[in-house]
Amino acid sequence: MMRAAPPAGVAPAWTAQTSDNGVGVYVHLPFCDRICPYCDFAVVPYESQFARRYVDAVLRELAATTPRPVQTIYLGGGTPSLLGTAIATLLTAIFDHTGVAPGSIECTLEANPARNAEHLAAWRAAGVNRLSVGVQSFNDAELHRLGRNHDAATAAAFVRRARDAGFTNIGIDIMAGIPGQTPSTLSRSLETACELGVPHISLYALTVETGTPYALWRDRAPAAFPGEDAVAAMLEDGAARLAAVGLRQYEISNFARPGFACAHNIGYWRQRDCIGLGVSAAGYEAGRRYRNVRSTLEYCRRMERGESPRQSIEELPWPARVGEAAILALRMVDGIDNESFRARFGLDPRRVFARAIERCAAAGLLEADTAGIRLTPGGRLLANVVCVEFLEPELAPA
Ligand code: SF4
Repeated sequence: MMRAAPPAGVAPAWTAQTSDNGVGVYVHLPFCDRICPYCDFAVVPYESQFARRYVDAVLRELAATTPRPVQTIYLGGGTPSLLGTAIATLLTAIFDHTGVAPGSIECTLEANPARNAEHLAAWRAAGVNRLSVGVQSFNDAELHRLGRNHDAATAAAFVRRARDAGFTNIGIDIMAGIPGQTPSTLSRSLETACELGVPHISLYALTVETGTPYALWRDRAPAAFPGEDAVAAMLEDGAARLAAVGLRQYEISNFARPGFACAHNIGYWRQRDCIGLGVSAAGYEAGRRYRNVRSTLEYCRRMERGESPRQSIEELPWPARVGEAAILALRMVDGIDNESFRARFGLDPRRVFARAIERCAAAGLLEADTAGIRLTPGGRLLANVVCVEFLEPELAPA
């Protein structure tokens, strides 16, 4: 027999101490119709009975968290939209637990355009007010090579149905670096996305993760993949095209019309607290970072036994918190705001990162002035190189 979850408001020992400010909630829903050959996320094939068991487990984890004012909710995966009506069950529980009114905060659902468009209106009624649609490309040959289960026409039809169902805040993901992709096929995909009138586009580079079928393919046939310089050029060209139609870049991979930037992700880049629920979900609360176990079955078992789902909990030392805040902020086009950094940490970022700023600015990757510190357009393409420099702030007394 399964043990009952702790009553709402009673936190067991494994939950983190929290602070009073608002928080984001991320729920990982790991189910997919089929596993894409480049995917390295915690995912499992969809099976309805197991999905129900999993949702029960997430509800137990939710019940064990301390209710706090929630600013955003993000249902990610996996393919959360595969859960159909269970999305309403989950959201009702989150809204009830946190005392937040449905529709009063940004609530994002990641959706696969191939499935469940008939649930769009119900999701909206349940409080979903932002859709992130995993399109990746509007070129059928590229979609086939990615192993996706939809074609371009299906993706476009899903977006139109979403709008008919009342969604205005819709984002589309587009990928650069797909095998066989050329600058002109990418720009055609971006053009189609823009023609659909969505106010948010994520344009990001395919990452080939070790151990995936794509990694084997690239080892065998590296020429099938666009090279690093070609991908960088495609991203640069894509950013210019999106800017030209009014989609402002606000983060390395994200572009939006005014008022449509993703508040949940901005919270993450501003190092706001985030409660992570579900298998492999990561959370950050009051300087403590944690991650849940990566096996979906193990996650369910632990929740059913009333055990902690945590795989790791790490108390970030002060210098690491300061360095991480800077690195996350640099992902945003506006970068580090000197004044708010000072207000938050009592430190002048131009002093504690003086050496990093000097080195990166000399390389043309960064600019710093009295208002803030930000990447240059070239720096955005080499953000990882810059971020390493900001890992260790110089915190010695002045
Ligand atoms: S749909 Fe997304 S999460 Fe699912 S297998 Fe493909 S890439 Fe991974």
